[in-house]
Amino acid sequence: MRAYLTLVDRVRSFLRNAAIPDLPKEVRSDFVMASASTVQKHGRWLFVGLLLTCPFAALATPEAAGPWVRWGLPGLMALYCLFGLSKLFRELDFARKPWRAERFILESWASSVIGALICTGWAIASWLSADAASERLHFPVILVMGSLATAYCMASIRAAAATHLVIDIGAISILLVLTGSSFDIAAAVSLGVAGLFQWRMINAHHRQVVELLLLKRESQTLALTDPLTGLLNRRALLDLASELRSHEGASRLILIDIDRFKLINDAHGHDCGDSVLQRVAHLIADAHASAARLGGEEFALLGPVDALPAGTAIQLLSAIREAAMPHGGRVTVSIGVAEGTLEDDGAWRALYHHADTALYAAKRQGRDRIVHTRDLAPGDLPSDACTLPQQSLPERKVA
Ligand code: GH3
Ligand code: MG
Ligand code: MG
Repeated sequence: MRAYLTLVDRVRSFLRNAAIPDLPKEVRSDFVMASASTVQKHGRWLFVGLLLTCPFAALATPEAAGPWVRWGLPGLMALYCLFGLSKLFRELDFARKPWRAERFILESWASSVIGALICTGWAIASWLSADAASERLHFPVILVMGSLATAYCMASIRAAAATHLVIDIGAISILLVLTGSSFDIAAAVSLGVAGLFQWRMINAHHRQVVELLLLKRESQTLALTDPLTGLLNRRALLDLASELRSHEGASRLILIDIDRFKLINDAHGHDCGDSVLQRVAHLIADAHASAARLGGEEFALLGPVDALPAGTAIQLLSAIREAAMPHGGRVTVSIGVAEGTLEDDGAWRALYHHADTALYAAKRQGRDRIVHTRDLAPGDLPSDACTLPQQSLPERKVA
């Protein structure tokens, strides 16, 4: 039983690799989701087109081929198209669901193999039953035009496109070469060449998509990263806040500001100041994955309260206080902590404003300490969100 399961697993992973060939790891899921969406969009039109050709294919089939070939195979094809259309009728959402996209790709591939076998079976049987040589050449042409269109539609799933080209064009070309005249052989050669060019185009398209996804990834990273420290930047923190809108419970914001940082710059130069910022950033990054630099010598941590415990601020305060710094001395930080739900823009502004007020209270109280909003007198906290212009939360990305 175990050997059987291992074999099934191996076959499954072989098929998965064939359908979604090796891609740079960082863009694999983006590629899979983009491919699935593309095939879903084009697939509907492909099925409509194939469905329209079914009655004409039936009428064109030589009577000598018999009712199974004449009515059975086009009828089967029509049913296959209707089934495919019904599957694609419902819009599937692949955004952030690579596993669903992978399953869709494998199903599309399996379905395209069935389609290719039906079409090829019909074309070969019709070819063999046709009387006149001039008549039978129509069948490879019909098959190959359909195959090229299908391969083009399925270009995002290379294995499916290749399967079509091999089954349809390969089989009919071999038949033309083996049984045909010199005209048939010439047709077989040109069909083969058309198939090879299609394959080249599909590969070029694949490479372009991968390159674009890598570029997109790189520009996203650049847009969301602070260049000096490598932490998230303010924009990325706003993205994170907008993602937390869907989180049920409260979120915690921890704002961290280096004390008297200007003195380090003045005494040791900006280069040395930069190194201190990097060292502090490193310690903050160790504390939590959401570590962001808001600008200057100000940093932030943001997350659901259970994932970002209040104890993180205490650990950070002592870790920074005790760490050796590049200028040869020590630095301390002041920290403001606030909690709240992040259901909308206003809630984020209020949370930010509360944490900032707590931070400034820490500065006023002598620095090198943590102030939580609950430690503030009620009058210290603003009753509503800050009225100063602030960056709003970006709209939640659905795609
Ligand atoms: P406080 O304890 O009140 O926060 O005092 P502070 O000196 O840390 O704060 P202040 O706002 O007076 O000074 C911040 C300094 O940070 C001023 C600015 O030159 C410096 N700064 C801002 N960005 C950078 C940077 O990228 N690199 C360096 N080296 N310094 C920076
Ligand atoms: Mg400061
Ligand atoms: Mg500051």
